[in-house]
Amino acid sequence: MVRRLVPFLVAAVLPSTVLAQSADRALLTELAKVKAVDAHSHLLINRVEPAGKALAQQRSATDLPLRLRGLGPEWARTWKLLYKVNVPDPSDKRFAEPEKRFAELQQARELLVEDLGAEFSNHMLDLASVEMAIVSGDPLTGKGLERFRFVPRADVFLRPFAQDSAEALKPFFIAARMYTLPKGLDEYLGKVVTAALERWVSEGAVGIDVGISAWRGLDFAEVNAEVARAAYGRLVIGGEFGANPADLKAFQDYTFRYLAAEAGRVGLVVHVKTGMSRDATGIVGYGNPILLGASMADPRLQKTKWLLVHGGFPFDKETGPLLLRPNVYADVSVQDLVRSPTELGESLRRWFELAPERVCFATDAASDPSASQLRWPELTFLGAETTRAALAIALSRMVSDGLVTKAQALQIGKGVLRENALTLHGFGLQPPEAATTAERVDR
Ligand SMILES: [Zn+2]
Repeated sequence: MVRRLVPFLVAAVLPSTVLAQSADRALLTELAKVKAVDAHSHLLINRVEPAGKALAQQRSATDLPLRLRGLGPEWARTWKLLYKVNVPDPSDKRFAEPEKRFAELQQARELLVEDLGAEFSNHMLDLASVEMAIVSGDPLTGKGLERFRFVPRADVFLRPFAQDSAEALKPFFIAARMYTLPKGLDEYLGKVVTAALERWVSEGAVGIDVGISAWRGLDFAEVNAEVARAAYGRLVIGGEFGANPADLKAFQDYTFRYLAAEAGRVGLVVHVKTGMSRDATGIVGYGNPILLGASMADPRLQKTKWLLVHGGFPFDKETGPLLLRPNVYADVSVQDLVRSPTELGESLRRWFELAPERVCFATDAASDPSASQLRWPELTFLGAETTRAALAIALSRMVSDGLVTKAQALQIGKGVLRENALTLHGFGLQPPEAATTAERVDR
């Protein structure tokens, strides 16, 4: 089958990213109409600027992946669209003065925030054609937050002995009427960990965010309860600093599987960070999703639903076979910010040949204090645009290779942009109050 290239119409739907690619026009047009669900994002409520900006060290552009440096023409186009401001692009001689470039942009962002108030975040989602975003953080409610769902961070339960965890643990201690960590592991797991998960469910959380791959590998082994209890006993006295690494590993391995089992029991999806982070910090190999294989195969964890956040990139090939488990999903967050549609399309196609119904759109959009160009609205927009373009490329090729019909290709694309994330999080199967919102989203 001959692939059709209609640059004029393609440009109208998805400006520059797709021009060089061959994608089926009708498919692209249909995908542009789908109101997406962003399965992994970070939100500053109706704000653009992160707190602590002045404190954060500004990173030089070359420390960031090429697409995140704010220099390509796609950025100037995005800023114009979101904030109605003309930021010099690479063809403009004012482009060489980065400070001036960002001052005007900054003003335009702040004006719009002021102007739109509680509607700011929603307006930004609309411009990216995203209907709902699942964001990392504690559940919040309020005006303008109806289109957000929350996934609280659970890493503190795996690092309770670390000095920087004391503050984060306080609310859980208060809820459990405790002053400090209990002496025994079972009491810790029941009164702190399980109690927190149950409270989060009652507050409307839809998952838990596990970013432990910033500290250690995802190889959580099966550990005997007695061994874990003994390790906990020593750690609770001595703390994490200077602890025996074997004790720490035994405690974390055991607690991770407990946490995952409990999340499955109470209906929270385990969002595990895999692969590289947005700014390529940390040890990338820690996040190889294949390391999670043993936990996923644990018979006690078959009710647990997993979302491999960032899709494991650069280990996205390893992600593929994991998706054959009916309770394992992966998202394209970070990848749709640092990779081109052509490159992302390659990974998507590889996953689609295995389990297309368990791939989700996501961005990892966040306002990053260390770089003036990296703000939640623009990253949401660029991520959504890149995913749509990558989908069109991957699916058009699958159609021309005779693997799927056009109708099937469109169904796969709709699933990725929206339906798979809704299915994974059980929207529509929630208690009456939450169901009303989910139904609104389903329309
Ligand atoms: Zn993230």
